[in-house]
Amino acid sequence: MKLYSTNNRDLRVSFEDAVFNSLPADKGLYMPENIPQLDPSFIRNIQQYSLQEIAFHVANAFIGEDIPESDLKLIIEDAINFDAPVRFLDSKTAVLELFHGPSYAFKDFGARFMSRVMGYFSKQDDQLLDVLVATSGDTGGAVALGFLGVQGTRVTILYPKGKVSKVQEEQLTTNGQNIRAIEVNGTFDDCQKLVKKAFNDEELKSHLRLTSANSINIARLIPQTFYYFWAYAQLKTQGVGDIVFTVPSGNFGNIGAGLLAYKMGLPVKRFVAGTNVNDTVPRFLKDGQYEPRPSQQTLANAMDVGDPSNWVRIQALFDNDIDQLRNVVSSYTYTDEQTKKAMDMLFTTFGYIACPHTAIAYLAANAFRQEHPGDYASVFLSTAHPCKFPDAISSDVFEQVQLPQGAEKLGDKPKVLTSMEVDYDTFKEYLLVNNI
Ligand SMILES: *Cc1c(COP(=O)(O)O)cnc(C)c1O
Repeated sequence: MKLYSTNNRDLRVSFEDAVFNSLPADKGLYMPENIPQLDPSFIRNIQQYSLQEIAFHVANAFIGEDIPESDLKLIIEDAINFDAPVRFLDSKTAVLELFHGPSYAFKDFGARFMSRVMGYFSKQDDQLLDVLVATSGDTGGAVALGFLGVQGTRVTILYPKGKVSKVQEEQLTTNGQNIRAIEVNGTFDDCQKLVKKAFNDEELKSHLRLTSANSINIARLIPQTFYYFWAYAQLKTQGVGDIVFTVPSGNFGNIGAGLLAYKMGLPVKRFVAGTNVNDTVPRFLKDGQYEPRPSQQTLANAMDVGDPSNWVRIQALFDNDIDQLRNVVSSYTYTDEQTKKAMDMLFTTFGYIACPHTAIAYLAANAFRQEHPGDYASVFLSTAHPCKFPDAISSDVFEQVQLPQGAEKLGDKPKVLTSMEVDYDTFKEYLLVNNI
């Protein structure tokens, strides 16, 4: 596979280069030169295949010769080792649960696949690959657990002190091995600035082989297409015809992967994006003006994004033509008040406990159904397990949350972390001194 930059159609880089650099120097985003078309007979018979078989087929269509099939199969088997079940709430509404991986969030798909691809390409290299990540909570856990034990790699995670939930902090700080956690006495933006500065520090780069596990890495996008195909396979088995997917969106990577799957031939009637009050995309789809704004803090904090970084990819998929885009994508936006009500409603009506992000998807799916009644299945994506968001969920509902296997034990493990002020020289010193 060759990739171009959304800022330069003539640029061509290899898959390996795109994986290690995340971003082209021109600040565009990498996109596959050609969107592979899946064989219609594969789609027709998709219910015969397992999630891993589907994942292999789709990944192979993208990656082709860059990773031999037998190696790719091992990467998939190791990375995609948990399910993504579709559960019906009523006869027309289903939830696609993406939180059955180790960090209990859909980001496990991207992080686990990317870590193994990076590990694979690093094998021939003697120098350790240093992954730096700033996280507001969810990304860090997925990356930490994704890279845990992956040979030839080391991860340093920066998170804002006191601003991540208990389960999230435990997922960041109890790993040991090749994972290091730094608690920064500042905000997520401060963490991100420290990491960005490190990537531009020539002296540091002469000592360390640095890479980012950024959410815009192409190796995170590809595996997020897998579960759309897998959901389709499950629904097909149940005799479902038309499908509308509703995706809770922040950086628009998740829905971007769905749209990529659609462009590869997955039959989907429509995609609906649900956002919190950070509504740059809904405003754009309405009035055609792309006007990013500073992000606002909400209950669905993994979606607090004012300028979604994957949006240009989606634009590229639709030839930067808003009419084409509007034919396939709808969007709705919700306040915290509405999100809370939806979480309570999901619990009282269906006995279903959803995280705030998932609740926003539920609201958007219902809004679309109201405007477009019809005989299709509404499938909304559940992006995280509710146990990760205790402060966002009513306490009487949160009491009913059943912790996933392993989550109780997290609290028993010793936390290992380094505390740091927002100071670049301290951070740089840490990286250089602890370079063993
Ligand atoms: C990251 C995240 C999202 C947003 O996904 P994008 O790909 O950034 O749109 C939604 N929900 C949860 C729980 C997340 O962690």
